[in-house]
Amino acid sequence: MAGGGDPLARLTQVKAGAGALGHLKAMVERLLSAYGRPVPRYTSYPTAPHFHAGIDANRAAEWLSAGPADMPASVYLHVPYCSKLCWYCGCNTKIVARAEPVAAFAELLQREIALVSAWLPQRQKVTHVHWGGGTPNILSPVDFCTITAELRTHFAVAPDAEIAVEVDPRTLSTDMMAAFRAAGVTRVSLGVQDFDEKVQQAVNRVQSFATVKQAVLGLRGCGVQSINLDLMYGLPHQTPETIIATVDQAASLDPERIALFGYAHVPWMKKHQRLIDESALPDDQARFELATVAVERLQSRGYEWIGLDHFARPDDPLTRAARSGRLRRNFQGYTTDATEVLLGLGPSAIGTLPQGYVQNATEPGAWADAIRAGRLATVKGIAINADDRLRRAVIERLMCDLAVDLDRVARGFGATASTFAAEKSALAPFVRDGLVELDGDHVRLTALGRPLMRSVAAVFDRHLAASAARHSRAV
Ligand code: SF4
Repeated sequence: MAGGGDPLARLTQVKAGAGALGHLKAMVERLLSAYGRPVPRYTSYPTAPHFHAGIDANRAAEWLSAGPADMPASVYLHVPYCSKLCWYCGCNTKIVARAEPVAAFAELLQREIALVSAWLPQRQKVTHVHWGGGTPNILSPVDFCTITAELRTHFAVAPDAEIAVEVDPRTLSTDMMAAFRAAGVTRVSLGVQDFDEKVQQAVNRVQSFATVKQAVLGLRGCGVQSINLDLMYGLPHQTPETIIATVDQAASLDPERIALFGYAHVPWMKKHQRLIDESALPDDQARFELATVAVERLQSRGYEWIGLDHFARPDDPLTRAARSGRLRRNFQGYTTDATEVLLGLGPSAIGTLPQGYVQNATEPGAWADAIRAGRLATVKGIAINADDRLRRAVIERLMCDLAVDLDRVARGFGATASTFAAEKSALAPFVRDGLVELDGDHVRLTALGRPLMRSVAAVFDRHLAASAARHSRAV
């Protein structure tokens, strides 16, 4: 994507010319005010704010019993605990100082594995396992291995299954790394966000480069084949210089993948974000510039830009999937996981079944009560209809391929592109402003439109207009 034709790359190159920069800033400001409205991240469609209590444990049991047939599934396990609160955190987690609640959770998670598998009509084939949180490495190494073994008992986990774990490098012990080796972990994602100490202090997550490096080397030594580092822009005190330095340090560790997320400041939803000094946060314009220079630096370090916010080595499976139109998007972001069924375990975990989405109770206490009583912990969800399936496919292709052939996707669902006549009209301002190219039924994001892809996807979101949910900024 880098090069003279890429407006994002150009933004960094014209910095020397004050007149050109002024013009570009005015253009970016106008585009952000026109299209930068809060929109979902589209890791699902319909998105989570539309889930409702009409989908409960009974409905989830019914859907599981109907079975995903012979489709392979993925399993997501949510560990809802951390040892220290990062003020930017947008995850479902609780801070714990003692080991007991975590050990009790580990025991209940094993019961939930048995419970969910018992509702399925057959021993379910599983090709992907993803541990997220919270902090999965807050579990004891023994509990981590026991839970993984329990998964293998109740599900037919493929011998070559991807087993991915999100990790906090500050608390990653050598015993846990050995447990990862024993459990067959193939991929680890390390939370970094920013290496600048002033930025780290401002978000209450201080971790040195040496800590991250030690974790990366240790994981490599334990046979983990793929490492991802999570970075973040839009944090307090970040400047183009600090974020470039962070990218350089991250790249020096040679991870296969790097994710670059925009900080979502939503203190009305995540009250602890009020601890962040808002006066130190970059404004929309500065966020755009931070994202731009970081993207450009990642590309210059040899990473290919995947979708909205992922970067991968040219020979990485994620890059190959993106090149061949096989990239997928799910609750964990961009993935090569092609399964249509996701079994979500643990508090707040979301599952995807052929009939719709189901979500567990968010509060660990409510989740634990259900599991102790031998009930599924589902408290909400949404059934999806044919129109949802079609729109989900359109939005996914747009978010993954940066383009979508409306006619081709519609035909795959027994519909026609005429379904999207109103959406094509609604794209007119995007076309006029150079964000989208519309050629018949082909919708293509331009380089200028790429950072605003969520706003383009929102045009196809039939549920959004009726929603009062407040999302994060589009860039
Ligand atoms: S480690 Fe992750 S989940 Fe835990 S508080 Fe920090 S950002 Fe949130």
